[in-house]
Amino acid sequence: MTRPTPGAGRFAPSPSADLHIGNLRTAVLAWLFARSTGRRFLLRVEDLDDRTHDQVAHRQLDDLAAIGVTWDDEPQWQSRQRERYDAVIDGLVARGLAYECYCSRKDILSAPRAPHAPEGAYPGTCRGLSDAERAAKRKAGRPPALRLRADTDEYTVTDLLHGTYTGVVDDLVLRRGDGVPAYNLAVVVDDAFSGIDQVVRGDDLLSSSPRQAYLANLLGYPQPSYAHVPLVVNGEGKRLAKRDGAVTLGELGVRRAFALISESLGWPEADMAGLLRRFDPHRLPREPWAYQPV
Ligand code: GLU
Repeated sequence: MTRPTPGAGRFAPSPSADLHIGNLRTAVLAWLFARSTGRRFLLRVEDLDDRTHDQVAHRQLDDLAAIGVTWDDEPQWQSRQRERYDAVIDGLVARGLAYECYCSRKDILSAPRAPHAPEGAYPGTCRGLSDAERAAKRKAGRPPALRLRADTDEYTVTDLLHGTYTGVVDDLVLRRGDGVPAYNLAVVVDDAFSGIDQVVRGDDLLSSSPRQAYLANLLGYPQPSYAHVPLVVNGEGKRLAKRDGAVTLGELGVRRAFALISESLGWPEADMAGLLRRFDPHRLPREPWAYQPV
């Protein structure tokens, strides 16, 4: 008898800067959620953007290993999967679900938008361009982004910590004007290709999850379960950043960083095995962790 393949959780850092203690805490939580439910755990390097660096990626992987995060399979590098994204985008184009967009960020921010649409949500300016209008824009020289023709403006996901969450779905970017596959597209495609059925990440991404779940559904992918965990903030209540002081593993040392993370969760333990024994998602702190750099 063959056993069903277990699902998988993941951590997917962007290698634009070293992981700080908040990122490491999120990675530890993603690992705990996955391992406590018998899932595999995968790492993905989100290096499509040109602000990311291989060297930083390798340091991130080393730091994760040092803190005790273990993973299955080789880490996936998004920059090596361009054909995969292109094939999915081609499929959406063939279904008539994509259109060219010539707007700059400034155009988008200054365009009138629907009363409840949040700032930055795409107002649909290029959705109905005629062939002639498109040809004129093309001639003007700005390379177009490719956007999804969404047929809804909201979508609902279920989150283990936030319950039912309904958020905006706009005509999100599939491929940027510079040809790089967009973040939302790449995340959805990779999660599905890797069999990831549990997405645990910082709650700054909660508002992206309806867009991603909607896109997954359009592509016929299963919906993962979500848990968006509280971020770590500095003494002023602002999102922790490197400039806040001693925040990286290099600055703190592995033992101290691990002790701070496990104490912040309310389960002071010496290692990941200890944390795993104590882990209870229902008892996770729901407030951001206010970290005072020493
Ligand atoms: N790469 C994203 C980040 O570092 C996370 C993407 C995700 O977890 O879906 O913020």
